[in-house]
Amino acid sequence: MLHIAFIGLGSNLDDPCRQLHRAFAALGQLPDTSMLAQSSLYRSAPLGYADQPDFVNAVAKIATALAPRALLQALLEIEHMHGRERTFLNAPRTLDLDILLYDEVRLDEHGLTIPHPQMHRRAFVLRPLLEISPDANIPALGEARNALLECLDQSLERLADVA
Ligand code: ADP
Ligand code: MG
Repeated sequence: MLHIAFIGLGSNLDDPCRQLHRAFAALGQLPDTSMLAQSSLYRSAPLGYADQPDFVNAVAKIATALAPRALLQALLEIEHMHGRERTFLNAPRTLDLDILLYDEVRLDEHGLTIPHPQMHRRAFVLRPLLEISPDANIPALGEARNALLECLDQSLERLADVA
């Protein structure tokens, strides 16, 4: 049984554009998973802890047979391979991979919340998501395009299409 999931990618260390290109490739190579769509890359200013480099963000749409937990575990392993070290909340990072949406699933377990609890407040998630899925719906919250209207004050620059 295949599921549709949207993954949020972010990086602000060690050549972020290259990190995201490598991460797209790694996502497509996960077991029982195929890449369906890759957004452009977007540059965003850091939220929370401001004294750090800008972020580069993107969203991927995958089809996967992995269950949510197994998918999260696989994402954490990719982050680890990219040399991510967890230091403090909102710290700079070589790669952050988040499960944004997984079918129409709503889940709130220890260490895994779907939809991602902050996604509807973040232009750097919503714009790339809408680029590849203009009718995206956030379970319990409604249309992603309406959520974006509340985030228009957040600076975000589209960089380039992903080849
Ligand atoms: P953030 O992405 O919020 O900046 P981290 O990447 O350090 O923070 O994530 C910390 C933890 O968030 C992960 O270890 C994971 O267990 C948990 N988490 C909860 N929900 C999700 C989700 N939907 N996608 C990814 N991680 C999640
Ligand atoms: Mg994360």
